Amino acid sequence: MKTKSRKIVIGNMKMHGSLDFNESHFKSLKQKLGSFNELSITLCVPYPYLFQAQKILMGSNIHWGCQNVAKELEGPFTGEVSASMIKDFQGELVIVGHSERNTAYCESDENIAEKFNMIKKYKMTPLLCVGENLIEREAGIMEKVVSEQIKTILDLYGQDIFKGSIIAYEPIWAIGSDSAASPEQIEKMCEFIKQLIHTNVRDNDDVNIVYGGSVNAKNAVQLCEINGVDGILMGRASLDADEFYEICNSIHKI
Ligand code: PEP
Repeated sequence: MKTKSRKIVIGNMKMHGSLDFNESHFKSLKQKLGSFNELSITLCVPYPYLFQAQKILMGSNIHWGCQNVAKELEGPFTGEVSASMIKDFQGELVIVGHSERNTAYCESDENIAEKFNMIKKYKMTPLLCVGENLIEREAGIMEKVVSEQIKTILDLYGQDIFKGSIIAYEPIWAIGSDSAASPEQIEKMCEFIKQLIHTNVRDNDDVNIVYGGSVNAKNAVQLCEINGVDGILMGRASLDADEFYEICNSIHKI
């Protein structure tokens, strides 16, 4: 869904929004971001608002997607939503492995791998979130943690599974906090991920790495200029159309 030369901007609305809020938010984004054709922009909405996102964003330069998916295709899985259902509403990108889900719903790396595979099967882009918590960082095992998250998918589905996917480095301690990780920390981890992908994936040019965790209008340029960072994943900033615009406006020429 993007070429290497375009920066990626992904918004994760999390469990925010309502029909009324979205109506004006989606319309504002459509109008404000309309000229940023150099960027690949996607908004991940809560499931009930997929149809609304499709209706309003259709024909714009903003893609839409979801924040999770079932690992099964259909059946007695109460409360789950399948990849085919997301595809029915022309969703193009699905987040998997977000730390808020891992913590609250005990998702295992194997579970996440199965979801990743399902997204690929339905020809959507998987956005895999990886990252360490503060204890793991302080113990110096962040690379081991991230490598296990990625290797579980490679071991189960082989090297071609990552083709066309996005990996988001989201240190858990930087999400929803006051400040992003430092450029040095981000560059080091993105380089590590890049090497891992380079060694294990054929056609690895097609795998993009973005950073997530307290991205805002003030730090977006600096974050996007870090070596190895192909774009950003943002939570809170995606709910404010003006800030979303400022971020895109500041990075679209990088
Ligand atoms: C996120 O949860 O994916 C995220 C990046 O959140 P925030 O930007 O609010 O830190």
